[in-house]
Amino acid sequence: MRLSLSVLILFSLIAVACKPTHEPSAANMVTVSIAPQKYFVDAISGKQIEVSVFVPAGSSPDSYEPNPKRMTDLQKSKAFIQMGNFGFEMAWMPKIKDQFKTLKVFNANEGINFLSDEEHGQNPHIWMSAKQSKILANNIYKALLECFPEKKDLFAQNMKLLETELDSLDLLFAHTLDSVSHRTFLIFHPALDYMAADYGLVQLAIEEHGKEPSPNHLMHISEESKNLNIKLILIQKEFDVENAQVIAKQIGANVVQINPLNENWKAEQLEILKILYENLK
Ligand SMILES: [Zn+2]
Repeated sequence: MRLSLSVLILFSLIAVACKPTHEPSAANMVTVSIAPQKYFVDAISGKQIEVSVFVPAGSSPDSYEPNPKRMTDLQKSKAFIQMGNFGFEMAWMPKIKDQFKTLKVFNANEGINFLSDEEHGQNPHIWMSAKQSKILANNIYKALLECFPEKKDLFAQNMKLLETELDSLDLLFAHTLDSVSHRTFLIFHPALDYMAADYGLVQLAIEEHGKEPSPNHLMHISEESKNLNIKLILIQKEFDVENAQVIAKQIGANVVQINPLNENWKAEQLEILKILYENLK
């Protein structure tokens, strides 16, 4: 009797704990492709808008395949602010538009001068450059204005603050990286094309056509890296660190992990800046 009572109490406690405290309403939610975009929506809306992130942590937006739950979550959203050229977006957006006829779809990468590489064709990683992120933030701002015109004053006020923040970050990158002496670094997956181009660095990818590198390719990279006196190898959380460590040993470089899909976009930017400065100075 005693036992069953405590079990009952335990169950009711679990039930209370699991009950969502706040059910997001369809009128107040947007979906974005990746977590860093949430940083910008939150900054512009002052966290007044619910944000659903479509590609979960640990998945690559270049090849993500959404599960049925992701698709039903879209029902609650007023808009899908996609980046615009991720592999998963090109594969799935026609189906999504077909299934959710009233969903507004916006591109966060409108107006970008795209860079190309072997792995992506058109490289989608614009949010990794503070400079390009000003364009990204502005596109997100315009999308939110269109979806929630009644919040125009709040958004405009927050956007001004965000613009100031992005301008200072852009300046900080330019000043800090201006003086480093080693300008080339290795990276497993080429996620820093725009950052490198905007601040005068050279990024070499270890990955081969978007796949694990062959032994031949690894050997070629090791030789090239030795010649260029490369000191830093960056590796994303999602990728296998082993190949990077093989090269690091051969050339005497540091392997450092980064997380381009970090939801705390600014903290990640500052972290990467620190890593670049300390290893390339
Ligand atoms: Zn990529």
